[in-house]
Amino acid sequence: MTVPAEAGPVEPDAALGERLVGIRHAIADAAAAAGRSADDLSLIVVTKFHPASLLRRLHALGVTQFGENRHQEAQSKAAELADLGATWHFVGQLQSNKAKAVRAYADVIHSIDRTSVVDALAVAEAPVDVFIQLNLTDDPNRGGIDDAGLEPLVERALAADGLRLLGVMAVAPLDEEPRRAFARVRAASERVQALAPDADRISAGMSHDFAEAILEGATHLRIGSAITGNRPAPG
Ligand SMILES: *Cc1c(COP(=O)(O)O)cnc(C)c1O
Repeated sequence: MTVPAEAGPVEPDAALGERLVGIRHAIADAAAAAGRSADDLSLIVVTKFHPASLLRRLHALGVTQFGENRHQEAQSKAAELADLGATWHFVGQLQSNKAKAVRAYADVIHSIDRTSVVDALAVAEAPVDVFIQLNLTDDPNRGGIDDAGLEPLVERALAADGLRLLGVMAVAPLDEEPRRAFARVRAASERVQALAPDADRISAGMSHDFAEAILEGATHLRIGSAITGNRPAPG
């Protein structure tokens, strides 16, 4: 698959840089409000649907961690931008038949939500960092493990070679106050830590709810449009 060419004139780097600085400040403010250090927060800029040229511009502005949600697009960007030495986060839904291919370029996979994916990633290679994705809705078609499945999936991940469990990941439902949703994520994180004390990271918080996520303990923020501007249509 080819990554779509930049649509329309390239906006000046100043605008992109200003949004990035603005978000970095807002993250620092939210961390201060939560009594936390901004140094404990990782900013992942989610660049899905944007051309590789935008990632290059972000990298020139100091961004080193990129998030992508579609396998082929992520794979081609990681190959095209290999010279950047960036950290690649896969945040999209993951099928077990694609898991090995994603593992080949992704440094961190945020969307482990079933045992078949754990099993597909459990290969005798350097471990890949993973998050278990929680489904905070009642809709089983949404990505993520349901509440009852959490501990069994953690046990499976801990028993597997080839992956290192960092913690839990979630997307706040549209119909719930984000702070409340992220409080549920924090509770799930505590359940995971009861089994895996080192798996204390939380991937949560997007353009419109990262401040609430930081208040509830998020460590990995996945922020897209507030930095990149509107996404082009998927290619
Ligand atoms: C697109 C996406 C994001 C970023 O969303 P924004 O609202 O643009 O910040 C974060 N996480 C996941 C899983 C996504 O798919």
